[in-house]
Order: sequence, then C-alpha cells, then structure tokens
Amino acid sequence: MSELVIKDLQVSVDTEDGPKEILKGVTLTIGSGETHAIMGPNGSGKSTLAYSIAGHPKYTITGGSVTLDGEDVLTMSVDERARAGLFLAMQYPVEVPGVSVSNFLRTAKTAIDGEAPKLRTWVKDVNGALQRLNLDPTFGTRSVNEGFSGGEKKRHEIAQLELLNPKVAILDETDSGLDIDALKVVSEGVNRFREQEGKGVLLITHYTRILRYIKPDFVHVFVAGKVAASGGPELADELEAEGYDKYLKAAAV
Ligand code: ADP
Ligand code: MG
Ligand code: MG
Repeated sequence: MSELVIKDLQVSVDTEDGPKEILKGVTLTIGSGETHAIMGPNGSGKSTLAYSIAGHPKYTITGGSVTLDGEDVLTMSVDERARAGLFLAMQYPVEVPGVSVSNFLRTAKTAIDGEAPKLRTWVKDVNGALQRLNLDPTFGTRSVNEGFSGGEKKRHEIAQLELLNPKVAILDETDSGLDIDALKVVSEGVNRFREQEGKGVLLITHYTRILRYIKPDFVHVFVAGKVAASGGPELADELEAEGYDKYLKAAAV
C-alpha cells in the first residue's frame, strides 16, 4: 500500500536571470494501486514536477508539500527518496561511462534494500528482466546509457523499474522516441509492474498514444504549471481529438 500526496506544490527553477516560477500550486494524490496520467503541452512544467519530486538541485521548492505514506519527501536526500519507494525515470537519463548496466543495477538494488542481492537469484532476475524487455543478455555488459538508442534507454528504465520494484513509479515521457514495437514492450513492462498489489504510477506524457497500451485510472491536464482539469480515461480521448487549446486559452485569461 502506498500513497503519494502532492499538495499545492510551488517550484522555481534557477535560471541565468534568477529564479523563475514554474509550478504554481500542483495538487495531486496517487493512491494505492492507481495509475495517473499527466498530459500537457511542451513547457507546461511536467518534467519540473518529476524533477522536483526526484530532488533535483536545480529546482527550489517555494511552497507546498510532497509526502509518501505520510513521510515528508522534500526533506529526504535523493537516495532516501529511492529507499522510501519512489522511482523516477527521467526524460533525459544521464550517461555513466565505465559502469556496466549489471553493476549499475546491482548498486542501485543494494542501496535501496540496504544489502546486496544474492548473486544467483540476482543474475537470474536481471537476465529475466532484460529478456522480457527484448534486450540482448550482453546488454548487461554495456556502459549505462553510453551509445544507447532512444529505445534502449527506455527499455533499460523499465528493467530498472522491474528490478528495483518501488512503491510509486514516476515515468517522464517514457514513450518519446519509441517505435511501435518498443512502445508495446515498454508498456507491457509498466503493466506488469502495476498489476502487482498496491503500486502507484504517475505517467507523464505529451502524447496520448501510450495510453492505448497503459490504461490510466485518472487523467490530468497540465497547463502553465498546474493541473487544469482531471477526469477518467475519457479525458485522454478528448485531448486526442481536441488538443490543449481550450485549456491553454483558459489559462491565459
Ligand atoms: P515540460 O516537461 O512540460 O515540457 P518543463 O518542466 O521541462 O516542461 O519546463 C517548464 C518551463 O520551465 C519551461 O518554460 C522551461 O523552459 C523552464 N525550465 C525548466 N527547467 C529549466 C532549467 N533548468 N533552466 C531554465 N528553464 C527551465
Ligand atoms: Mg519538455
Ligand atoms: Mg518534459
């Protein structure tokens, strides 16, 4: 069971011209077993929301709160957030030259569990995860994100999700740059995760197409740094047909 509660979150980003207010009071609760999709135009602050929950140093929280099962997330270090059960897959994952995928995954797993996973089951788990994501077993020997294609990055993210098995997963633009086969494989991975008891998913996307494969329980329209409207899956259909115009106009008034 898990509940991520975001209340009136206000965030500024440090720019060369000083701090710029991006999030203007975001309120959202990801309940146990729920999948929420956040959809919004470019530049509306979706990634800022993900980075802020992740604890990225460029983003300053100027108001509001984020709690996971009642624990204050915003005072936790990045590692503590992961140990508490938050998983954040980023739109632009970093390269970690010289660190193999296998070692990276094992280090992350050890940090989160507080002890190293047993080698024999771990190797089996990693190979299983890579296989389910249609990644070659030799993928484990490659340096993290070095020369990865867009699709390999996303598959690797979902392999991490499967192996680290968090309480709540925040996935930012997991669908960007994927061809249809990769989109299906990645979506199946997310669906395997959410089929487990009590898992929460916050799926951030610019496009509606991933929502054909990952059916959200709730859809939120995100415009100008806040949630402009919330509804069920039918809201995604409306956005697919009509776009964000209506919400952009309303936000501009
Ligand atoms: P989205 O993910 O919805 O496309 P972002 O959160 O990436 O939106 O960006 C929201 C706004 O904040 C944009 O206007 C963007 O230019 C600005 N912004 C975000 N991060 C930074 C940053 N590190 N430096 C300067 N501006 C930023
Ligand atoms: Mg963007
Ligand atoms: Mg973004």
